[in-house]
Amino acid sequence: MTQQQQTAGGDVRLVGISKTYGSFTAVQPLDLTVPQGSFFALLGASGCGKTTTLRMIAGLEEATTGTVHLGGKDITDLPPYKRPVNTVFQSYALFPHLDITENVAFGLRRRGIKSVKKQVDDMLELVQLGDFARRKPHQLSGGQQQRVAVARALINHPQVLLLDEPLGALDLKLRRQMQLELKRIQTEVGITFVHVTHDQEEAMTMADTVAVMNGGRVEQLGAPADLYENPRTTFVANFLGTSNLIAGEIVSTGEDLVVAAGGGKLTLPRERCSAPTTSGGRLLLGIRPEKISLAHADDADDIAAGRNRVTGRITDSSFIGVSTQYVVESPAGTALQVYEQNIERDTRLTPGAEVVLHWNPAHTFGLDAAQDIA
Ligand code: ATP
Repeated sequence: MTQQQQTAGGDVRLVGISKTYGSFTAVQPLDLTVPQGSFFALLGASGCGKTTTLRMIAGLEEATTGTVHLGGKDITDLPPYKRPVNTVFQSYALFPHLDITENVAFGLRRRGIKSVKKQVDDMLELVQLGDFARRKPHQLSGGQQQRVAVARALINHPQVLLLDEPLGALDLKLRRQMQLELKRIQTEVGITFVHVTHDQEEAMTMADTVAVMNGGRVEQLGAPADLYENPRTTFVANFLGTSNLIAGEIVSTGEDLVVAAGGGKLTLPRERCSAPTTSGGRLLLGIRPEKISLAHADDADDIAAGRNRVTGRITDSSFIGVSTQYVVESPAGTALQVYEQNIERDTRLTPGAEVVLHWNPAHTFGLDAAQDIA
């Protein structure tokens, strides 16, 4: 039997779960389903309630309201050790005096299981630490120690592995390696991973589904690409990458919306607008910097018909290797960021140049500024 078959559980479902400390609400009533076998990330800035949410799934924190379900079973009243759930923390919490084998075997030994060798060997192989079995934790790098912590949790065959900023203590390069490593491990074991992070790149690299949290609630939930391409709030638009947000007014409400913004008339597909779509309505029109192309004003006639256009002047230009990043100010005073890739040194535009920014209207999104919290 494969480990995947042994540990197959069910969806994690949070129903109206909330947490208050005195008069402070850390997590507002939350309904959330984490599909079985998915890699799910809770993403948000410090203090937004992601760890508290994770701890309520683990049973380490009692929910003020609501229930926690696993595979259709209500586990709200089960103590942590009776839940088929394990947690990996940022501080690996390995036993310093035990070698790696004994650290990984710990959960089995505690349950009185004597012959642990095969299971420990399999786990060490899974996390690619077979050659380190007899070392003590202090003889391993941070990334290796974190992999031991993952192996130690997985050996208990949890239905869900909870990871609380597990890569927070690692330097950037190792962090990136471990993100791919954890993703590989999750695919291999096939159980549900719920991962807490404040790093949007990390969440997008690893997770199938990301819940973006802000002020104790989930602002938006979706696949990384959907969140990035179609953010529904300014918080999400700004937290996941960089967005240009231009204040505008709807001037026509046909099949596509037409918005007066940045000194131009810009097309916004109706389905990409999360603000009310009535004529005269005000909204924020969003476009990612890398979706914008730049043309010198003298070449404006060459721009294909049907593209959104805003004129402006370059006020700043920086070459950062993979792209050149421009700041362009429109006559209306809006500063827009533009990232262009693969431009030759001699064709880069310089500050002062009069330009036309243009992009495919399909990449434009519309946000309701009035709806934002925090
Ligand atoms: P971080 O990334 O900094 O860990 P987080 O998003 O995980 O942040 P939580 O740890 O869930 O945030 O905390 C959410 C809020 O609840 C914070 O404002 C925190 O100060 C508060 N909080 C957490 N634990 C307690 C507690 N035991 N008593 C009072 N307030 C608490």
